[in-house]
Amino acid sequence: MGEPNRLDGGPRSAIVIGAGVVGLSTAWFLQERGVRVTVVDRAGIAAGSSWGNAGWLAPGLAIPLNEPAVLRYGLRTLLDRQAPLHVPASPDPRLLKFLARFAANCTSTSWSRAVRANLPLSEECLEAFDVLTANGVDAPTIDAPITAMFETAGNATGLLEELQRLGEAGQKISYAELTGTELAQQFPQATSRLGAGVQLDGQRYVDPGRFVESLARSVISRGGSIRHRFAVDQIRRHEHAVSVRSAGGRSLHANAVVLATGAWLGDLGRKLGIRVPVRAGRGYSFTVPTDDPVPSPIYLPDIRVACTPYRDGLRMAGTMEFRKPDAALDPARIEAIIASARPLLTGIRWEERTDAWVGSRPVTTDGRPVIGAVDTPGLFVAGGHGMWGLTHGPITGRLLAEQITTGNRPEALRPFDPLR
Ligand SMILES: Cc1cc2nc3c(=O)[nH]c(=O)nc-3n(C[C@H](O)[C@H](O)[C@H](O)COP(=O)(O)OP(=O)(O)OC[C@H]3O[C@@H](n4cnc5c(N)ncnc54)[C@H](O)[C@@H]3O)c2cc1C
Repeated sequence: MGEPNRLDGGPRSAIVIGAGVVGLSTAWFLQERGVRVTVVDRAGIAAGSSWGNAGWLAPGLAIPLNEPAVLRYGLRTLLDRQAPLHVPASPDPRLLKFLARFAANCTSTSWSRAVRANLPLSEECLEAFDVLTANGVDAPTIDAPITAMFETAGNATGLLEELQRLGEAGQKISYAELTGTELAQQFPQATSRLGAGVQLDGQRYVDPGRFVESLARSVISRGGSIRHRFAVDQIRRHEHAVSVRSAGGRSLHANAVVLATGAWLGDLGRKLGIRVPVRAGRGYSFTVPTDDPVPSPIYLPDIRVACTPYRDGLRMAGTMEFRKPDAALDPARIEAIIASARPLLTGIRWEERTDAWVGSRPVTTDGRPVIGAVDTPGLFVAGGHGMWGLTHGPITGRLLAEQITTGNRPEALRPFDPLR
């Protein structure tokens, strides 16, 4: 079945499973290296967490989730339905096992390892966006600082310590502390409840849905095809090819297959021998009109909410809910975001909100994504980026395309071995 690899050993064709930012970036950079690509998705383009996220391209904040402070916070708020971090009262045994492994990795050693591992991705991530937008992806990335706002200067200590540790690990970040008065001067939305800020320079933001849809159009215009409603339930290796079969019985084959199914990665991933569990850390977002334009993204760490200028208003995004990725949207989570943000922001027309959305961050237990080859020849995985899959999606695609076509794993991908 199928055609052999090219004379240089690289694949002629590849199927990418998952039309999110990670899968489509991988497809695009494979095309750059002369590979024919077909992208399949069980729903369509940006049907997972790549649509309604906060849109931050924020290498300076790409802090792995497995911080010791997250564990302390999680334990304190575990059963509070209004809290930004939520675990169902009766989690399934697999989720319990996942959370136990996650908790075991909430140590400064494991966190620092994840920080060091992510560093090369963070260093090159904006350049990978520039390659895409300079070559046909029609969605501008906007340079802007991200401003974290706190009720008190004391509350900023945690973030300042993290930034310091990121800096010590080699991440280039430039930031300045702001007073409440300075916040109010820059942001008409900041209420007097906000008394301190930390402004990070050198970050960007994007309309993530527009970006991923445009990336998909670029993949098509470069000769690729995208199949919607193609839910893969089986992947098999043959002599010269790997085949994928849809739940409806349709089959496709190619020299290489990349599994990039976001929070659903665990389902097929387990069968491929991926030992790092991936679970859905669900987040919510919605859009609200504002009386005045919001100059640049606002981060409210005390309530774990991200606010991004979006289509003449503000996209509000937050919460981390460990439930199944296909569970229904819980309107109470949106109400909880509004209740916590209302005292901190003014000039927001909360009642006119639109675009209520829930999406699943693909969260791993050790704060590192899974990117690379599995034991079956021709089969690769890309996912598990958690909070930062938009920021790190294009650079992931670029590095993985290099590995797939040359057979050599870039050094930057070593810590992300899916079989670790
Ligand atoms: C509220 C919120 C805010 C966020 N904010 C940011 C941010 O500001 N910056 C940032 O960098 N990141 C952010 N993230 C994280 C980011 O959205 C994710 O890490 C990223 O989108 C993951 O991309 P992905 O391509 O791996 O997965 P997804 O976008 O989820 O794509 C996976 C795709 O696989 C498809 N699929 C699943 N199973 C199958 C199957 N069996 N067959 C075929 N197709 C299948 C799905 O339909 C889906 O389209 C945020 C996430 C959330 C929820």
